[in-house]
Amino acid sequence: MKILITGGAGFIGSHLCEKLLEQGHTVVCLDNFFTGSKDNIKHLSADENFKVVEQDVESPYDFAVDQIYNLACPAAPIWYQKDPVKTVRTNVLGAINALELAKRIGCPMLHTSTSEVYGDPAVHPQSESYWGNVNPIGVRACYDEGKRCAETLCFDYYRERQVGIKVVRIFNTYGPRMAIADGRVVSNFIIQALRGEAITIYGRGEQTRSFCYIADMVEGLIKMMASSFSGPVNLGNPAEFSVQELAAKILKLTDGRSQIIYQDLPADDPKQRQPDINLAKEKLNWEPKVNLDEGLQKTIEYFKRVL
Ligand code: NAD
Ligand code: UDP
Repeated sequence: MKILITGGAGFIGSHLCEKLLEQGHTVVCLDNFFTGSKDNIKHLSADENFKVVEQDVESPYDFAVDQIYNLACPAAPIWYQKDPVKTVRTNVLGAINALELAKRIGCPMLHTSTSEVYGDPAVHPQSESYWGNVNPIGVRACYDEGKRCAETLCFDYYRERQVGIKVVRIFNTYGPRMAIADGRVVSNFIIQALRGEAITIYGRGEQTRSFCYIADMVEGLIKMMASSFSGPVNLGNPAEFSVQELAAKILKLTDGRSQIIYQDLPADDPKQRQPDINLAKEKLNWEPKVNLDEGLQKTIEYFKRVL
């Protein structure tokens, strides 16, 4: 099959490109390299089934493909807040352009939404039936509301224009090839621990996240594309940890001696996050296999090599 991946040079996208090539598909990777990098995909460049197109998803594009995965969008708070208007445009115009192509050529479009659609959730754990608690005018809104609007577009194209959509809500995902400057909690703590720098906990570190290893996520995305289910479906690892617990784990696994410093909690930072993955189990026969210790170990090995 011929498969288009927008955002294919990013963290998740590059792993997805790699897996689909391994499975014998032809992959077109479309990216503007805002947060992604050529380094992430350079090991794939010799593959004759791999093509890279430098383009922004804000502008329409045209490829004769059998499937579209729409991943283009910065995922890390410091990056999506650099140019919030651009983030909204990437989400909304990016979704429209992917959906228009899917409609024109009659292929399915998998859209990567996020646990951020639940905002600072009042329901715990979060299941797909929960409509969320998002501050529509806050600093995270460009991403949260952009992603919510993209979901709206997916379901309108599905109902009104018969496009085969698949919407997944990704929870915090980590692993090799996270960018060093990503600013996310897992990469920050590992880099700080390996460099012997202070571990920066925002707030008191009591907020929780549920961390999914990249290989599990890629498997979930491919299973969703293969299914007849439109979603939305949560993809994430339900094991929940506080940021404080994560810091302790990373210090132990790296044998790190860093001190911990406490900094201001960013605005609208969600207090808790845990996916209810019963729907993914039922519809996709998917659940994560890699536990946090194992996944962190692999990620630490990666950062030891690149730092
Ligand atoms: P990433 O920042 O590593 O990758 C995003 C890719 O999209 C990058 O290669 C970037 O250059 C590209 N991109 C950004 N704006 C673009 C534009 N306007 N036109 C073309 N390309 C553009 O992020 P990631 O972690 O790989 O996330 C991939 C997708 O998954 C994103 O849509 C993100 O919102 C979603 N997601 C990720 C997580 C996570 O924990 N990593 C959680 C929830 C949702
Ligand atoms: N965080 C932290 N220190 C850091 C980076 C992040 O304490 O150096 C916190 C952040 O405030 C949030 C959690 O860790 O509560 C997860 O942050 P991340 O950026 O990974 O993603 P989010 O799930 O918030 O999108």
